[in-house]
Amino acid sequence: MSHVFPRHTKANLPTAVAGDGCYLIDANGKRYLDGSGGAAVSCLGHSDAGVIAAVQEQVGKLAFAHTGFLTSEPAEALADLLISQAPGDLDRVYFVSGGSEATEAAIKLARQYHLERGDTTRRHVIARRQSYHGNTLGALAAGGNEWRRQQFAPLLIDISHIAPCYEYVDRGEGESSYDYGQRVANDLEAEILRLGPETVMAFMAEPVVGATSGAVPAVEGYFKRIREICDQYGVLLILDEVMCGMGRTGHLFACEADGVVPDILCIAKGLGAGYQPIGAMLCSRQIYEAIESGSGFFQHGHTYIGHPVATAAGLAVVRALLDRGLVQRSAEMGEKLHAALVARFGPHPHVGDLRGRGLFRGIELVADRESKTPFDPGLGVAGKLKKAAFEAGLICYPMAGTRDGRNGDHILLAPPFILSEDQIGEITDKLEIALAQVL
Ligand code: PLP
Repeated sequence: MSHVFPRHTKANLPTAVAGDGCYLIDANGKRYLDGSGGAAVSCLGHSDAGVIAAVQEQVGKLAFAHTGFLTSEPAEALADLLISQAPGDLDRVYFVSGGSEATEAAIKLARQYHLERGDTTRRHVIARRQSYHGNTLGALAAGGNEWRRQQFAPLLIDISHIAPCYEYVDRGEGESSYDYGQRVANDLEAEILRLGPETVMAFMAEPVVGATSGAVPAVEGYFKRIREICDQYGVLLILDEVMCGMGRTGHLFACEADGVVPDILCIAKGLGAGYQPIGAMLCSRQIYEAIESGSGFFQHGHTYIGHPVATAAGLAVVRALLDRGLVQRSAEMGEKLHAALVARFGPHPHVGDLRGRGLFRGIELVADRESKTPFDPGLGVAGKLKKAAFEAGLICYPMAGTRDGRNGDHILLAPPFILSEDQIGEITDKLEIALAQVL
């Protein structure tokens, strides 16, 4: 009998024993094509020799040094490399161990930044309804997914949620994409005014929404308007690129495609590529200087921040992305994957939308294409698809629709950037088998 406390206590999961490029292999020798990189984690595949060597070398040299006493070479080098590639005046990197830690730290940093400047009334964070920012209490409060929040609602800080930028579902008839984006961005201004601008500290959003909506990018102009509104009211812009960052969308940082620079940028998943648990929060020079010239201490911290082995893995991953042209490859193979999905599933009666950027792709499933009516969440379409695809040897990331019907079942695809054209064919073949079994 197992003593592991699994995510799903009723599931009887196979044991993974090995990784081989884009495949995971279980104890019976069955191979699974990792079509979602786990949850958009594995950007280099599962057997990258360079990252494995970097981890082995670092753990043999220095496994751990507490950042309250010492810094380390890989942490310094990774921060330098990230900042050399980051847009705008993002200037400092605060390392953590994962995505929720990054968004949680971002919320606290936003609060402390305002306090350091004597702005003591700013305490509200605004986020969006279709969003996921992590599972710790602050991050969960920022996320807008009711299913994830429900049980813990009494424990969550009060964060307001405005409309997402979700063109497929929300754009009005006769409304242009651009006008739609401006309209929903202006919801932020309305919410800031409702709360009182002097009380709002930050707005948090995913540039391309992952887990809750399935690779939904904003329309052109949306984030530029968001940036303007944040600047006008002194509200910090926190972009959560935990899932969509690190080359996943065909840019190293997803916000580059939107032409905006946040004040705080959160990354994780692809940063460690699965070889080590690591995340990071990048912040602007202005924010760092407010702390440096003020209290000199960010009132936060975890034991494993800046872990030498994790940062050595991150350094090897980012070098691989840059030196091997893998960000560009994500963009190119993403177009090929999209074209293959359109060719195979474009006419499917239950495929409502195919979207995304780079190797971050979403398939929205609907009961009826004309009216865009989602499936009844009670049918469990996403769960059945996950199971059928897994049995066919494909790992993909289906998510159930929400009970309010605002967002339907969808499948998220986020394969490793080393994916071949044959493997694109394998993804579409196996998805077709799964869809045929379920719908
Ligand atoms: N933010 C986003 C956008 C995510 O997609 C996730 C995880 O899926 C998180 C934060 C939380 O990351 P983690 O699971 O590493 O805590």
